[in-house]
Amino acid sequence: MEELYDCVIVGAGPAGLTAAIYARRARLKIAILEKSFVAGGQIADSSEVDNYPGLPGISGADLGDAFLEHAKKFGVQTVREDIASVEYDTQSGNFHICTARHTYQTKTVILASGARHRHLDIPGEEELSGMGVSYCATCDGAFFRDRTVAVVGGGNSAVEDAVFLSRICRKVYVIHRRDELRGDKSAQEALFARENVEILWDTLPVRIQGEDQVEGIAVLNKKTGKERLLMVDGVFVAVGMVPNTEFLRGFMELDKGGYIKAGEDGITAVPGVFAAGDVRTKKLRQVVTAVSDGANAVYSAEEYLLKKG
Ligand code: NAP
Repeated sequence: MEELYDCVIVGAGPAGLTAAIYARRARLKIAILEKSFVAGGQIADSSEVDNYPGLPGISGADLGDAFLEHAKKFGVQTVREDIASVEYDTQSGNFHICTARHTYQTKTVILASGARHRHLDIPGEEELSGMGVSYCATCDGAFFRDRTVAVVGGGNSAVEDAVFLSRICRKVYVIHRRDELRGDKSAQEALFARENVEILWDTLPVRIQGEDQVEGIAVLNKKTGKERLLMVDGVFVAVGMVPNTEFLRGFMELDKGGYIKAGEDGITAVPGVFAAGDVRTKKLRQVVTAVSDGANAVYSAEEYLLKKG
């Protein structure tokens, strides 16, 4: 084990890259570790981000690139690593970030590992994943030109995916388990205005059917108890996110959803460990709140380092 960092940042999404910018400007010695090829986190998959101030309508990929380029200006270089565990070394009072290849030694840790797509866990989903079952409408939508697809979910992602797909596909079913959507009202209005979208309220997905390719999805109306088979070529799953915190089990306490318990200052139950972005307990998970978290976490880490001496 060679170098001792002031701060190791886990994740190069909006929260992690903002933390890196702030940390470098504070002249901290940092490493930023990212398991994916692409920096930018989840926004890299977003066709359009229309609520980040100053950059209306920018694509998620461009916004992620802009964050990365900005971080590079301060000498930040992301390292491709998948974290296996985080440990506290009682002797040195430092943390060990362990990956398959290396162990990084650091005085503080900023956890900005984000979240990933939740799965439906119904028959056919895993088997037909990549063969008509998708978790990213903007990545895979183009394969379904003039076809019929279903979007499962009722939050902002499902609403935005359905609007996006309705411009490409012949017909889009939205399958939602309740009788109202969760998404922003403006996004909902855009959805309701699409003539080729049919919303199936109070409806649960039961199984996805098909041999080598999705051919249909069986759905159950909760109110009537009736099951029906929708003939679709694709199923887009947009039922929320799961935090990327498996590597923290046993190291620190997580809430029942697996999120790291932390307030706006990023301070967690473990002194020296801070959380930023979608991975922490919070109400509004957006790019704008993630970047704010990144800045706050560095501020808290600096305070901790000053006290530690
Ligand atoms: P979400 O808001 O948690 O919505 C998930 C949806 O999936 C809910 O409607 C939920 O139903 C449904 N659902 C969950 N598990 C299900 C299951 N097993 N079977 C069927 N349906 C299920 O997730 P999201 O839409 O991915 O959004 C995540 C966060 O990102 C939110 O804070 C959202 O505002 C934000 N976001 C923002 C934007 C934007 O501002 N441009 C875009 C995308 C996402 P119930 O409603 O019944 O719980």
